[in-house]
Amino acid sequence: MEHKLPKLEYDYNVLEPFIDEATMRIHYSKHHQAYVDKLNKALEKYPKIRERSVEKLIFSLNRVPKDVRTAVKNNGGGHLNHSFFWKLLKKNTRLKGEIKKAIEKKFGSFEEFKEQFSSAALGLFGSGWAWLVMDNDKLEIITTSNQDNPLTKGKIPIIALDLWEHAYYLKYQNRRAEYIETFFHVINWNQVNDNFKNAFNFKL
Ligand code: MN
Repeated sequence: MEHKLPKLEYDYNVLEPFIDEATMRIHYSKHHQAYVDKLNKALEKYPKIRERSVEKLIFSLNRVPKDVRTAVKNNGGGHLNHSFFWKLLKKNTRLKGEIKKAIEKKFGSFEEFKEQFSSAALGLFGSGWAWLVMDNDKLEIITTSNQDNPLTKGKIPIIALDLWEHAYYLKYQNRRAEYIETFFHVINWNQVNDNFKNAFNFKL
């Protein structure tokens, strides 16, 4: 089985003015594609492991042969993270339903959640991701470096924000804080709700 770039379910320009068309095009068709290609390359000589889904590879990295483990962590992680991220982006959805209740219960208010998430994202040194995850049925904000995915530590992603410069530099240059603020205009809360519900009976 070859890993493949998932179809992007919307046009490159639909997230304007928050995420610009050029960034979307390059991010999806060049960066994400490169992770997919390098993952396939890393698994070339391991036909059995090639049959595993990328979620399984990342969840059980210790079952990946040592000589390609780092390549799978980086490129499988890159593939998984971006596939997750694209689905999470949509304009004009509303925080509601179970995730609204859960966020308010855990953080006190949505504003407080936003504050804590943004501050974690801003505080990450270098390239990586900010996440809202489920850890043993509890919500938690974390960051990971590089393309590391929370699944490797048994935490289930609910929200993800790409903090690599390639995700925002064309439009925001060094203004990471502005990019983070912008992210809250394009979170697809319907997808977040689905991620939240699925996290309770997460299976691979
Ligand atoms: Mn990226």
